[in-house]
Amino acid sequence: MPVKRVDKTPMPERDAVLRSHDFGEVNEGYGIAHAQFEAERCLRCQDPICIDGCPVRVPIPDFVHKVASGDMRGAAEVLRSSNPLPAVCGRVCPQEVQCEEQCSVGIRFKPVAIGYLERFVADWEMAQPPIDVTVKLDRAEKVAIIGSGPAGLVCAGELARLGYPVTIFEALHAPGGVLRYGIPEFRLPKDVLDWEIDQLRKLGVEIVCNVIIGKTITMDELMGEMGFSAVFIGTGAGLPSFMGIPGENLNGVYSANEFLTRVNLMRANDFPNADTPVMVGRRVAVIGAGNTAMDTVRTALRVGAEQGMIVYRRSDQEMTARVEEHHHAIEEGVEFHWLTNPIEVLGDEDGWVSGLKCVRMELGEPDASGRARPVPIEGSEFVMPVDNVVLSIGNKPNPLLLQTTKGLESNKWGCLVVHDGSSETSREHVFAGGDAVTGAATVILAAGAGKTAAQEIHEDLRS
Ligand SMILES: Cc1cc2nc3c(=O)[nH]c(=O)nc-3n(C[C@H](O)[C@H](O)[C@H](O)COP(=O)(O)OP(=O)(O)OC[C@H]3O[C@@H](n4cnc5c(N)ncnc54)[C@H](O)[C@@H]3O)c2cc1C
Ligand code: SF4
Repeated sequence: MPVKRVDKTPMPERDAVLRSHDFGEVNEGYGIAHAQFEAERCLRCQDPICIDGCPVRVPIPDFVHKVASGDMRGAAEVLRSSNPLPAVCGRVCPQEVQCEEQCSVGIRFKPVAIGYLERFVADWEMAQPPIDVTVKLDRAEKVAIIGSGPAGLVCAGELARLGYPVTIFEALHAPGGVLRYGIPEFRLPKDVLDWEIDQLRKLGVEIVCNVIIGKTITMDELMGEMGFSAVFIGTGAGLPSFMGIPGENLNGVYSANEFLTRVNLMRANDFPNADTPVMVGRRVAVIGAGNTAMDTVRTALRVGAEQGMIVYRRSDQEMTARVEEHHHAIEEGVEFHWLTNPIEVLGDEDGWVSGLKCVRMELGEPDASGRARPVPIEGSEFVMPVDNVVLSIGNKPNPLLLQTTKGLESNKWGCLVVHDGSSETSREHVFAGGDAVTGAATVILAAGAGKTAAQEIHEDLRS
């Protein structure tokens, strides 16, 4: 079948000036005509290498072909058979470095917009009248899931479908993990997440919030008097790293996790109607250049900052944020200070941030990560006047569960150790997956780990 169009069908987007003042979704999604037009660009390759680029091996040409032929229900069934969170992944997965990077059409033209099509199908499914998804939870063994991020949610759904009574314990007051408290509404509307969580509740999964396993309830209690036969740990990597530079304890310095949680979970953008404020001045500098940093700086603009700045010690070539996020941030007026390394946060006499002292960098030889090592340029120090500094330089797993639970092995980065190629931890009947094992990674990898773990828990309980 010949390629009908050279260019990817563009995603309709809201105007950058209007959207940078509210939390409405930036991408508006394809209509049916867009979707079918785009789906027809797929060649249905004999060797569909796009599938190799997908961490959960979605049968991409099958669902894309069903879109082209107008069989949306069929497309939704194919998608869900391998990806339990398509509406989320269609919005936040880095397709440009996964399936779309492999797509054969991309050799000569722009690749098929697999991610946009995934989102279209998932949104179509959400708009249909609800279907009965109830299953019989008639197995004797109960399973506990710790953490309600993508790893925990997917693991719970798969186990419920296998007939196990499942309870998710979540430390925060609402489920979803980073999908709720980290990724802002303008990229992932909360009603999309709520719909996915509702499907789990309809399956019979119980979700108990405001419970910290390791503190409110111990692992021994879960597996002892509470009678859970197996446990899945999906506690993520929510502990922020700091730079250790002078001035980090001044008023007006946040970690990106705290900043985003205040807005996304505690609704600080609606203060004083909501209880929690976020103190944002005129000029906000965000340190780092990953997805979290882009989400933070764009959120800062939406909660009142006039100037949002990314400060990063390497260049745009080494940033880890998605291309789309970077592009949207540029459109919304974010300033980028590449090759700039903060060395001190400066404060005024009342203890509030007044500036960020930085040094200019140049790129040297590649370091252990394979990326060019940034080297300070002597005598190039300067001060940026800023009112807030937000650190977005990485996260580690929270050590609480490890500190309070016997028999769980961790590595030097604080990640849970699992047996080679499986999700089994060093403690019997305890499994783990997602960021708690890999360190900060991606939604689809966490979801995939939850799915694999569910199968392994099933085998463990059956043996
Ligand atoms: C701001 C931000 C933007 C991101 N953007 C993207 C993106 O665009 N695309 C992408 O693919 N990935 C993105 N990521 C990464 C992605 O969100 C994570 O890799 C993914 O959410 C990890 O899933 P998880 O289930 O392992 O953990 P999490 O989502 O972190 O969920 C863990 C849950 O466990 C709970 N918990 C922790 N300890 C306990 C305990 N002791 N008891 C009970 N509950 C506990 C936590 O409260 C949390 O709700 C982003 C991350 C951040 C922070
Ligand atoms: S590689 Fe591209 S063209 Fe080929 S099947 Fe996959 S999406 Fe279609």
